Amino acid sequence: MTPSELAAETGRRFVAAEAAGLNAVLHWSQELLDRDAATLSGAAPGPLSGTAVAIKDNIVTTDQPTTCASRILEGYVSPFEATAVTRIRAAGGLIAGKTNLDEFAMGSSTEHSAFGRVKHPLRPELVPGGSSGGSAAIVATGAVRAALGSETGGSVRQPAAFCGIVGIKPSYGRVSRFGLVAFGSSLDCISTFGTTVADASALLAAISGHDPRDATTVAAPPMDVPPPRTDLRGLVIGLPVEYFPDDLHPGIRAACDRAIAHLRALGAEVREVSLPHTRYAVPAYYVVNPAEAAANLARYDGVRYGQRRVGPEGDVRALYRATRGQGFGREVQRRILVGTFVLSAGYADQYYRRAQDVRRRIAADFSAVFASGVDLLFTPTTPTPAFRAGEKVEDPVTMYLADVFVCPASLAGIPAMSVPIGRDEGLPLGGQLMAPHLDEATMIAVAAALEGVVDATAEVR
Ligand code: GLN
Repeated sequence: MTPSELAAETGRRFVAAEAAGLNAVLHWSQELLDRDAATLSGAAPGPLSGTAVAIKDNIVTTDQPTTCASRILEGYVSPFEATAVTRIRAAGGLIAGKTNLDEFAMGSSTEHSAFGRVKHPLRPELVPGGSSGGSAAIVATGAVRAALGSETGGSVRQPAAFCGIVGIKPSYGRVSRFGLVAFGSSLDCISTFGTTVADASALLAAISGHDPRDATTVAAPPMDVPPPRTDLRGLVIGLPVEYFPDDLHPGIRAACDRAIAHLRALGAEVREVSLPHTRYAVPAYYVVNPAEAAANLARYDGVRYGQRRVGPEGDVRALYRATRGQGFGREVQRRILVGTFVLSAGYADQYYRRAQDVRRRIAADFSAVFASGVDLLFTPTTPTPAFRAGEKVEDPVTMYLADVFVCPASLAGIPAMSVPIGRDEGLPLGGQLMAPHLDEATMIAVAAALEGVVDATAEVR
């Protein structure tokens, strides 16, 4: 397909997705697609030629708004472009549009978007997961083969599992955060979705590598896409017992059992391991994350960025109160309040420092298991399949518990990904692979091996 044919086809599919009421894409235009396609037609082909890539709307672009699905940034257009977006263009990819998300990427269902929730591509009454739900849903419809999302604590792996596609969170520092709107800076990773392991990993390879504009990027050269493995002999895969509780959802257990049998059949040695601090990951994450969010979101003050609302009293406090009170949704306000509280004098020792201590222990659990000869870990990605819209949105703790299996890798900064491993009552289920820091290559090669043998559209029980 030529770039202009790809642009036309992508536009047609976006129109169809919109007509179906998916609400996955916040901004796109045929004119921009055609303009970018014309630029690509004149350039040498690259590894992403022929691939349209949707971009989560918390990654900045100069030709389209970046709203983070927040009223406070409505209409905001960045004066600079994210490194990841620049690298997609350089690799021959077509930038397709900006996708819906939970406001400022805070959430697990995309219900916290100020511009309406995203619908699950198979069942509109369900959520697609979040916070990168728009990217996941639009990839799942086949309108684009790949998309950028962002992960702070599972926001690509969880929606990938819910929508039946592949989602890869790289090691912290593998991809530049330059141009990713800051949320929890010590956790944030631009991450990728694809319809297949090859699509998600080609996109990751294209955006990876050191960037002088982000001092936390690792000094490693850009990643290569590893060739898929068909023989897993010599590889040790750990199953952490904490991720397979007795009350695990029976469909998810059946899907994991089947995937594990496939890994064994491919020659891998599979053994039980323990990551004893796992149960403290959600509480620690929901202290560290709001603390960093509260600090990062202080910049939306009605003066420096975005919308400004002036309060009736007319002084600067009234300006802040009106701008932030009306501009931020409830979940964002909740994080700012919790974050400010856990950092406040007298409470920082009790909450923030303890959470940091737990974070170190979680990272140490992973290091110990990998040092014991385990190459990769396999777990379910989520504790349940996609849930109904409205089911958890009023109860933040229930919503936060949707992240139990995904936030440990985020706290530890290690790479992790979700691959489709089957369906239960028609709903997609994901299996998670986690690897040592910077060993995306083994993880991706094994995911491709699994993808090659698992019938991901088959019912698991
Ligand atoms: N669900 C998690 C949260 O609400 C993860 C968010 C993310 O990874 N961006 O913080």
